[in-house]
Amino acid sequence: MVFRCLNAKLLIIVYDFFCASRSLSSGLKPYAAAFLLAFLAFALPAWGDTVALIKTDSTEKTAVGPGVSFIEDPEGVLTFADVQKPSLGWKINTEGVFNQGYNKSSWWLRFTVVNTQYKSSWLLEIAYAVLDNIDVYVVSPDGDVKEYFMGDQLPFGHRPVNHRHFVVPLKLKKFEQATFYIRLKTSSSVQLPMMLASDSMFREIDVAHTLLEGIWVGGLLIIALYNFLMFLVLRSRDYLYYVANIFSVMFFVFCLHGWGYQYLWPEAIAWNDKSALIFLAFILISSWIFTGSFLNVYAISPFLRFAQIAGILLVSLVGAFILYVPYDVAIRVIIPVAVVSCFWGFLCAIASWLQGNTSARYYMLAWSVFLAGGVVMALNKFHFLPLNLWTRFAIQIGSLLDVLLFSLALADRFNKERALRLEAEREALLIQKKANETLERRVEQRTQDLEVANQKLKELSDTDQLLGIYNRRFLDGALEKIFLSSLRRKHNMAVLLIDVDHFKAINDTHGHLVGDECLKMVTKRLQQHVCLPGDIIARYGGEEFCIILPETTMDDALDIAERIRICVASEPIFTSVGPLVITVSLGVSASVPRSGEAPLGYLDSADMALYRAKNSGRNCVKNSADVLDH
Ligand code: GH3
Ligand code: MG
Ligand code: MG
Repeated sequence: MVFRCLNAKLLIIVYDFFCASRSLSSGLKPYAAAFLLAFLAFALPAWGDTVALIKTDSTEKTAVGPGVSFIEDPEGVLTFADVQKPSLGWKINTEGVFNQGYNKSSWWLRFTVVNTQYKSSWLLEIAYAVLDNIDVYVVSPDGDVKEYFMGDQLPFGHRPVNHRHFVVPLKLKKFEQATFYIRLKTSSSVQLPMMLASDSMFREIDVAHTLLEGIWVGGLLIIALYNFLMFLVLRSRDYLYYVANIFSVMFFVFCLHGWGYQYLWPEAIAWNDKSALIFLAFILISSWIFTGSFLNVYAISPFLRFAQIAGILLVSLVGAFILYVPYDVAIRVIIPVAVVSCFWGFLCAIASWLQGNTSARYYMLAWSVFLAGGVVMALNKFHFLPLNLWTRFAIQIGSLLDVLLFSLALADRFNKERALRLEAEREALLIQKKANETLERRVEQRTQDLEVANQKLKELSDTDQLLGIYNRRFLDGALEKIFLSSLRRKHNMAVLLIDVDHFKAINDTHGHLVGDECLKMVTKRLQQHVCLPGDIIARYGGEEFCIILPETTMDDALDIAERIRICVASEPIFTSVGPLVITVSLGVSASVPRSGEAPLGYLDSADMALYRAKNSGRNCVKNSADVLDH
């Protein structure tokens, strides 16, 4: 409870009077006291320099801020002895938390604490870890002065209480009072979020705050681990950039809240001073890289790609610059860079969204939430917003929501990529199937063509080029087949050998071409008598022909032979040199094949019969039986 502009001594006297009074019921005492004090406060003008009175209350915790007296010392020359002098022109802080933004002045604060509780062990906490120099002087009523020199410009071990914030112990019995003089000089934002709490209450609140921070860190660690595992499995670098971003945010807050100095680098004053800004630079760099990669800015526009490279270079330069300049200069440089980074991130997200990337929506939302946290924090540091639970944890709330939304964005993109991949696989399968079908059709077509070609080749290889009937090669095979078939069925077969008579004379007289013409015409006449399926007519060689007749007896064969002979001889053959009379001699062999015989035996027999036909004057038919007879 704070009573403004009252002389401390007067107040205590009044208060003690009411508390000790037996004339009022105990329930009315505090109201009566408050009324009187309020009356005094407004009725009495300032009586010399007033001292704010901070009264410990029954909740055992009191915010120290409103009503606290302060003076600005722009040159930083005032000492503790100086500020105890009267009429220095102390002002009254009217805000919940003393906050002067960024400036170079030294500041003195003054207030008196009155303990109205039985608890005697109290702690004053200044919950802003990045203050440079805080000198606290505690003057007890007997004039005894305790001095505490703290701030992150001193090693962590200098602090009277081992805590990430600045904590000063205070021993006060009931109704005892002590006056605090606090000198503050810092390159960070000048703000003193102070709380007076009993020892036990302080621990209780601290546990709650630590637990909240623990939940926050745990949440971030789980998401970082999840994204790291996603990187290991999917090998997509976006996840790794994102993990770097999460850790940067985590360390940034660690530094801001004093955890880094307490546990990680308690001696490293210079590093601790810059660490928060260095990690802020890491946040920005990892954001540039992650954003570029996640939204694929390379594909969106060359301008955004160029801006990304320039941005990364700029942040890296600023990161290096931070190391060499004071904190207040560094923060004034990095904050505009952070604003540019955010602007670029939004631009990329909008461009990506417009190009149809729906994952960019989550990205924008996440980015906005984080940004909102950052803006709230910055507004507080620059003294535009008061310090309270929301502004103090703004960046943490923002970052936690941000990582959740980013994880959602990554998952959404993964989902889309998987759908696209499946679609691509389906298309590939379809194309492959079509290709296979085409290939099969082609192979089928080729096979057919090949079969036709083979057939043609076979026909060609079995056919006599000049006469278009079977050749000797085919004849040999056919003879064997018909022989074996007749042998199995015990059927007759006949072989006729036909030789053109005096053919040499035709060649010699009219030339080979006329001879060829004659051979063609003779072939035609032979074909007229060989018409049953299975009958074979072939050129045996030169001007000799062979006819194989399955299922044919000797009589039938002789009959056919005779008809052939007559057919050839009866009419002259018309050639280019005029009609020529041609005759043929025929040898016939026919029987039922017997096992042990050879197919060629039929040819031999027919040949011998032909030989006899030639010897008998030509233009006649002889059979193998006749051969045997002679
Ligand atoms: P023979 O009555 O004794 O059979 O008398 P020939 O003249 O027919 O006897 P030879 O076997 O001595 O003569 C056959 C002739 O047939 C010899 C050859 O020049 C001729 N010759 C063979 N093949 C062809 C051919 O494809 N075209 C032509 N124009 N003549 C051929
Ligand atoms: Mg001959
Ligand atoms: Mg001949």
